[in-house]
Amino acid sequence: MTRYVFITGGVVSSLGKGLSAAALGALLQARGYTVRLRKLDPYLNVDPGTMSPFEHGEVYVTDDGAETDLDLGHYERFTGVAARQTDSISSGKIYSRVLEKERRGEYLGETIQVIPHVTNEIKEFIAYGTGEVDFMLCEIGGTVGDIEGLPFFEAIRQFSQERAPRQCIFLHLTLVPFIESCNELKTKPTQHSVKELRAIGISPDVLLCRSQEALPEKVREKISLFCNVRSDAVVSAPDFSTVYEAPVSYHLHGLDSAVIAAFGIDPVPKPDLSRWKDVSERIRNAEGTVRVAIVGKYTQLGDAYKSIEEALAHGGMANRVKVLAKWIQAEIFENEDPSPHLEGFHAILVPGGFGVRGSEGKICAARFARHKQVPFFGICFGMQMAVIEAARNLAGLKDACSEEFEFENPDGDNGESNSNRVVYHLKQWEHCGKTQKRRPDGEKGGTMRLGAYAANLLPGSRAAQIYCATDISERHRHRYEVDVKYKNLLEKHGISFSGMSPDGKLPEIVEISNHPWFIGVQFHPELKSKPFEPHPLFADFIRAAKEQSRLV
Ligand code: GLN
Repeated sequence: MTRYVFITGGVVSSLGKGLSAAALGALLQARGYTVRLRKLDPYLNVDPGTMSPFEHGEVYVTDDGAETDLDLGHYERFTGVAARQTDSISSGKIYSRVLEKERRGEYLGETIQVIPHVTNEIKEFIAYGTGEVDFMLCEIGGTVGDIEGLPFFEAIRQFSQERAPRQCIFLHLTLVPFIESCNELKTKPTQHSVKELRAIGISPDVLLCRSQEALPEKVREKISLFCNVRSDAVVSAPDFSTVYEAPVSYHLHGLDSAVIAAFGIDPVPKPDLSRWKDVSERIRNAEGTVRVAIVGKYTQLGDAYKSIEEALAHGGMANRVKVLAKWIQAEIFENEDPSPHLEGFHAILVPGGFGVRGSEGKICAARFARHKQVPFFGICFGMQMAVIEAARNLAGLKDACSEEFEFENPDGDNGESNSNRVVYHLKQWEHCGKTQKRRPDGEKGGTMRLGAYAANLLPGSRAAQIYCATDISERHRHRYEVDVKYKNLLEKHGISFSGMSPDGKLPEIVEISNHPWFIGVQFHPELKSKPFEPHPLFADFIRAAKEQSRLV
């Protein structure tokens, strides 16, 4: 029987609900259970694919090609369970499904209402694949009391009523602020948040209380009394220095025991936390520091490149070093010498990105890394910029560019161009035996080359050595592609196309062999990196950075 944990948040947003859900998933796994995590987002976008990273942070892509919330990245990093399209839903998607059914006449003339039609659709989403795992953890985005969230809260209330007793529990995350002027921890916001939850028919079984320090016993007792939650189910969640301490810290404060007890599970299996203790030990006992410059566009918001940040940290764990990542706005050195900004770093990474703004700065960064023999990692847009740089400065194609730049240029005609479109808009490709077709003026949502695609690596190449394999699969999210017609020319100038799509048409990895570490990848390896299984490219990139740190 699958048991359900519904995770809701109160008081304020950004308390780390996704992280808490992910850490709870890891703790249940440590007790030998199988888990799956799902995210229900109240916003009206059909998915976050079309949202700006400034708005919503990174778009996390699954193997099966869904563009999802970044919390699914936390889920995968903590549990190692690959998320699927069916693990992420938004109000927008729910409503579009309901409206499509209405248009098809599937409701047989009924009046369509939030209850039951929208709530039924949500319940169907939650129950999909029931029986596959021991625990399904469902996180509701936003905070209790948000207007958009109401149908979701109503749906989980109904869902729990329709299941066997003790098959569903509610875990509510709150904040217990410390008010300096009176030197006191305040429980009132938690009390109000629980009251709000009760008003819509949900009684929390476990309260996870975020605070700076662990809550004293008497504060937990007070919350227990006023919120009608057993005191051993009022769990303290003090701040930790790195997110990967969450599983061990939550365990020490009794989160998994409280959840197991709420389900009435007996006997209680013992957890094996060795994996998480090893991760924490590696972080705490780092033997050095490497400095990595990340040259990008969305640098004001850390969450815009969440998986990259985490994958770099994983690479650090693999090499027992701390990675200090500095985000640098590519625009600040467009068409000028980037040396003052990039000198002193042990490695440079140009991540994924969109649009012409900042692109010349990224090209300059690639050139700097190539010239100065600094380890360079170009990811997706970063690889495209590195190839344009090489085409311009090694192969002599002074006008090398990406079609993406022309498409954005209001003065351009967006038609045929005389410049060398080393990177072009991909209009047709094969996926899972089907031909995919796109038009530059077509719909924007869900139309990129998305999800897992296979690639073949050149035997003996650096990429093949790093992966210890020649057949790989990685996740993609892009519209543009390096044009294979430039392969021979660029190879003559030292850019090796060491990874290609199985049909040989789409370049997947480029590398320079007479350089300490220069690799560009068309995919997003950061999406598959985990603390206990660092991605080989990130582990080797940080190894090269560590080597570089010994030279400078
Ligand atoms: N803008 C580029 C493209 O669409 C790169 C996308 C990315 O970096 N994810 O191909």
